[in-house]
Amino acid sequence: MNDDDELDVLCVACDSEGRVPQATAAVLGGVAQTVVWGRGCRWCKGTGRRAGLHPPV
Ligand SMILES: [Zn+2]
Repeated sequence: MNDDDELDVLCVACDSEGRVPQATAAVLGGVAQTVVWGRGCRWCKGTGRRAGLHPPV
């Protein structure tokens, strides 16, 4: 069972990393490259955890 009442839930959006790998195409010196950088997770605000799936009442 996995109720939504569970507290201290690991963020599935960033796999509890607190940031999401973001691939961006960049052209450096006329050569196209793919730059991967960590972007702050907007779901857990970088904490890697979410306190439940529903907002507090
Ligand atoms: Zn997250």
